Amino acid sequence: MRNKHMHYISTRGETPAMPFQDAVLTGLAPDGGLLLPETIPDVRGELDSWRGLGFVELAERVMGKFIGDMSAVELRALLERSYARFDDPAIVPIRDLGSLKIMELFHGPTLAFKDVALQFLGTLFEQILTERGLRMNILGATSGDTGSAAIAGVQGRDGIEIFVMYPEGRTSALQELQMTAVPDANVHCLAIDGSFDDCQAIMKSLFNDLPFKAKHGLGAVNSVNWARVLAQVVYYVQAGLALERNGVGPAICVPTGNFGNIFAGYVALKMGAPIDRLILATNDNDILVRFFNTGRYQRGAVHFTLSPSMDIQVASNFERFLFLHLNRDSDALRAFMESFASGEEARLSGGAPLDDRIVATSVDRDTTLRTIAETYRDTGYIVDPHTAVGVAAARRFESDGPVLCLATAHPAKFPESVDQTIGKPVARHPALEALKGATSRKTSLPAEVGAVREFVERHAL
Ligand SMILES: *Cc1c(COP(=O)(O)O)cnc(C)c1O
Repeated sequence: MRNKHMHYISTRGETPAMPFQDAVLTGLAPDGGLLLPETIPDVRGELDSWRGLGFVELAERVMGKFIGDMSAVELRALLERSYARFDDPAIVPIRDLGSLKIMELFHGPTLAFKDVALQFLGTLFEQILTERGLRMNILGATSGDTGSAAIAGVQGRDGIEIFVMYPEGRTSALQELQMTAVPDANVHCLAIDGSFDDCQAIMKSLFNDLPFKAKHGLGAVNSVNWARVLAQVVYYVQAGLALERNGVGPAICVPTGNFGNIFAGYVALKMGAPIDRLILATNDNDILVRFFNTGRYQRGAVHFTLSPSMDIQVASNFERFLFLHLNRDSDALRAFMESFASGEEARLSGGAPLDDRIVATSVDRDTTLRTIAETYRDTGYIVDPHTAVGVAAARRFESDGPVLCLATAHPAKFPESVDQTIGKPVARHPALEALKGATSRKTSLPAEVGAVREFVERHAL
């Protein structure tokens, strides 16, 4: 059953409810909050009919629950297009390493889990914009790892132009090529003569220039877009159904930093998917682990680790979790976020017990390296450093029942740490080999708002 009346509300409580497609175009709510469905559908009555479905078929069923303003036929066509570039027919195949199972989320064009969400978001943007006769100029900043997935999501799409800033010379050569070798004319890679912080500052200042923002329909593809969460919910439901035994689902272990991936798992749990519990795995940036173990939320210093995509201290999707946890009380949520923003420690008052279906643990550098080596030695399977954080965490909970760990990147994206740990060159992927020597295209610009503004003005749709 579809839900024709599904609407989205803001965690901060001051934005009128809106249908799905408006929520997608809105991204961050005007009151500064994050958009969420008014209710989370209970799907327990339908799980039997979902068993054995392929990823796209299941996505149509799961997403249909959250989308009231699109027909099933339209959604199905959109999904077929979104996942056409994945190089495995299962989209998110499950590997069996004995007691531990691995679900590979890295079969999209940039070999990382963000493709699952961003390939869908790009197709969705194109469809909504075309239908409404609108255009969008996307502006982003990346320290190296996430820019390519955003670019791959919208390359060659109608009605969209994308500008991605990155700090010149401070990404790996491979990361830069994953962005600059994309041939489509709607993609602009801006190599900024400065740091990642400079790029972020420029981006912020252009987004704060409201006339400029409105004139060019400036948009973002950051992790707060609800459509990204929704695309990820699907693989949690699929993993749960695949490993459910006698009515009990697996524990699912998630290497996370921004809470973006695991929040989708929490939604799947709330829907009644067969998931026994979620294991939240972080690297040394353990703000989330400290929160789940103590109820206290406080920023620490940022550590640079072997898993850079999880080097984060402020987890944007965390606000959505908190809102649900606080029984959708926007006032309590705002008080919590304000005390966090003012630099204090934020704490849950009233001692509402945290959901005991989420357990959290952090994994240090030595354990990460040891896990890459041991996994290869014992099973022949190669994990990247992000996945290794997950596998190490999963091993700590294996005795409680079956565990599935999400693999978030192909090891070939991080050849330095993987090859060195295993002791031979094993981390390779044909798509990345093909990039070496490819034609690349970029524009070098000084770290000045004016220079970037002028470039965008000249090339905006
Ligand atoms: C982005 C990313 C993560 C972390 O995702 P969250 O949104 O923080 O959950 C983990 N691994 C890889 C490879 C990533 O690119």
